[in-house]
Amino acid sequence: MKMRDYSINTKCVQGGYTPKNGEPRQIPIIQSTTFKYDTSEDMGKLFDLEASGYFYTRLQNPTNDYVAAKIAELEGGTAAMLTSSGQAANFFALFNICEAGSHIVSSSSIYGGTFNLISVTMAKMGVEATFVSPDCTEEELNAAFKENTRAVFGETIANPALTVLDIEKFAKAAHAHGVPLVVDNTFPTPINCRPFEWGADIVTHSTTKYMDGHGAAVGGAIVDSGKFDWMAHADKFPGLCTPDESYHGITYAEKFGKEGAFITKATAQLMRDFGCIQSPQNAFILNLGLESLHVRMPRHVENGLAVAEFLSTCDDVESVNYPGLETDKYHEIAKKYLPNGGCGVVSFVIKGGRTAAEAFMKKLKVAAIETHVADARTCCLNPATSTHRQMTDEQLAEAGIPAGLVRISCGLEDKEDLIADLRQALS
Ligand SMILES: *Cc1c(COP(=O)(O)O)cnc(C)c1O
Repeated sequence: MKMRDYSINTKCVQGGYTPKNGEPRQIPIIQSTTFKYDTSEDMGKLFDLEASGYFYTRLQNPTNDYVAAKIAELEGGTAAMLTSSGQAANFFALFNICEAGSHIVSSSSIYGGTFNLISVTMAKMGVEATFVSPDCTEEELNAAFKENTRAVFGETIANPALTVLDIEKFAKAAHAHGVPLVVDNTFPTPINCRPFEWGADIVTHSTTKYMDGHGAAVGGAIVDSGKFDWMAHADKFPGLCTPDESYHGITYAEKFGKEGAFITKATAQLMRDFGCIQSPQNAFILNLGLESLHVRMPRHVENGLAVAEFLSTCDDVESVNYPGLETDKYHEIAKKYLPNGGCGVVSFVIKGGRTAAEAFMKKLKVAAIETHVADARTCCLNPATSTHRQMTDEQLAEAGIPAGLVRISCGLEDKEDLIADLRQALS
């Protein structure tokens, strides 16, 4: 049996790396910047992408490749790479097909760092963007496209708004305009959603979150579905479909096909020039997290749902956002894309605004105040007094972030202990 035929649970544990007789059982950490060759010709073939192998860890390292291969198997993709962070993953995924003069259509409900990346930093590089509500109609979505649109972007479950992306709607519009859909699948992980099964073409991750799952290592990943036909839209993607002079005139889409062109180009050009590689040590730590991802995600979901249900019964709570709740605006769409639940992140609005939120959080004993989500330990954050503290109550309301909003990331503790902690802090 091939690894791709096994259950996702088995892939979490054994995917990506199959030791031969007498080799290390655990993925070895290849803590080496460089690799030795007998002849210059041997090395030359690697530089020409004529042979596959390693020469310098800024571009590729075997430890990273084992772990990336596991993530590709989990998502059902054909190729993957690790990056130093989720930010680098999203930047590489978009910049691999965009350049000055290109345009991106993006969901407006995305992680703040990605919103800045697209709206400010990539704008400085000459890449424009149009943001659309994830709830837009097909008509509104199609109207956002331009002649120079090269990619569509969204998050399966948005951080921190917890909106759920209608992946099929976004994929259909992207494909009708001859461009790929890039989906950041950080929050559900491939355990709870595999965007390729719904038409997405490229998936990205901040592996910093549930994949690592222990708050130990910052990292990112990009996975290619191998389904997007670059050559069929060659005029839009010259970087993939015309010769790369910095690689002896290789045309990636011809030489590596639909299955390998995207990741090979991102490695050969973007890793070479920007160097956002994940350290092999961090890749090893990430893999320890992946080995239990399928065991941990159901518990995060169980705790998230229990906490969301508890909060909905509290008099001091104005509203609760959690797609798993039947009363949630995204419940129907979540049932389709996330039948086993989404993740452990819940947000709610406490009555009494930022003063009440601050007082409540001070009293928490199990949940800690942190600028983080999605690890084993429950943590929470009040944007009004932390990440968004420079904004007035009016500005917060305009941004759709009530001053009393608290985001709580439910960890792997006992749910009764979490609820008891919330209850005493609310009282
Ligand atoms: C955290 C996060 C990122 C950024 O990832 P880093 O690893 O912090 O760089 C991107 N997308 C989503 C959905 C995130 O939650």
